[in-house]
Amino acid sequence: MATSTADPAAEVTDLLQHLIRNACVNDGTRGSGHETRSADLLAGYFDGSGLDVARYEATPGRASLVTRIEGRDPDAPTLLLMGHTDVVPANAERWRHDPFGGELVDGEVWGRGAIDMLNLTASMAVATRRLATSGFRPAGTLVYLAVADEEALGTWGADHLTRSEPDAVRADYVITESGGIPVDLGDGAVRLPVLVGEKGSCWCTLRITGTAGHASQPYATDNALITAARAVQRLSDYRPATRIHESWRRFVAGLGLPEEMSRPLLDPDTFLDTLSTLPTGMARQFHACTHTTIAPTVVHGGTKTNVIPDAVDVQLDIRTLPGETLPDVRAMLDEALGDLADRVTMIEVHDDPATESPVDTPLWDTLSRASQAFYAGSHIVPMLSVGATDARFFRRLGTTSYGFGLFSRKLTFEEFGRMFHGDDERVDVESLRLSTALWEAVARDLLA
Ligand SMILES: [Zn+2]
Repeated sequence: MATSTADPAAEVTDLLQHLIRNACVNDGTRGSGHETRSADLLAGYFDGSGLDVARYEATPGRASLVTRIEGRDPDAPTLLLMGHTDVVPANAERWRHDPFGGELVDGEVWGRGAIDMLNLTASMAVATRRLATSGFRPAGTLVYLAVADEEALGTWGADHLTRSEPDAVRADYVITESGGIPVDLGDGAVRLPVLVGEKGSCWCTLRITGTAGHASQPYATDNALITAARAVQRLSDYRPATRIHESWRRFVAGLGLPEEMSRPLLDPDTFLDTLSTLPTGMARQFHACTHTTIAPTVVHGGTKTNVIPDAVDVQLDIRTLPGETLPDVRAMLDEALGDLADRVTMIEVHDDPATESPVDTPLWDTLSRASQAFYAGSHIVPMLSVGATDARFFRRLGTTSYGFGLFSRKLTFEEFGRMFHGDDERVDVESLRLSTALWEAVARDLLA
């Protein structure tokens, strides 16, 4: 594998291809992921750079890797660049190229993880190595972390490291996925979202009960499946209120739109009508940013074709807004279910509340300055992520954590949304080059 070529774009492309081919597929089980393969790969990549690497393996096969350029001044800030090495599964039959082939086709690297987020994991590694070998000796400290298990709950990765190895990953600032996709509103201005916070996840299982009986005489039986179907329909029909919260106001203000465009996005009475005028991908994002969302996703129930089921379990993926708590979620479910509420019990819940970082920070100013060098006249915009990332573990420690990266104009907000966990995921080499150069510029600016 190529290391330290004169051409950083070739170097990051090569490293990304290898990371994709390692196929560290995380299906949510403890025995999946196999991120040790990519920890080995990265350890080999840093070989000869003068950087020492440390590995942390929370459970066999699930290794994370850390390396650092120690600063001269213990009072200067520490910046941690964090990329995950695991990916979600891919259905090869639906792809135009092998999802684990890492093929370079017409200037694009194809494969699962090309944008989520092996692209950034690779570019952060290349930037770190290039800084180290160029003799970069900053006042502050730069830490690179390639972390396992982001795509499940971080149990064997960031959650483990922040709890059990805090000294290895302590930082003032963290940058991870997945902002920076240029938002094009048709006026020529380049807006680069920085993810400064993220919604909470409240994953729960509802049990709907009934009374067992012979299915040959269903008249007037109490069938849990029929009740579950009605409950799911009510959850789908339920419309949680539009909440114009502080993060959303900041985002809309940051877009710098003319009054007549921003006003309807800040008024709960006109918000939903405005969404219908936007491209679907953007409307879906904007809706999720301003609403608690409830998505029924998995159902299990029944025992046999000729038995009226007495229990059906329905799993819900609920995403909460900043400030919302589990009692708020329970109240919403009760309201949605109406008179069915007493037939439904929440038997399992994993509640992970929303997190937010401040915006008036030195890292914010650094990102603003650094991105100007690549997109003159651009401005960065604080945004609430609707999905969860490992940043939440660091925010809970009080670390300012942002999601960012740089991409070429080739990648649109709509395409980005479609490829995330979708088919035909790929990234262009120019985006890889931009991100690598960005991390070097950010480290030099913030840690100098
Ligand atoms: Zn990711």
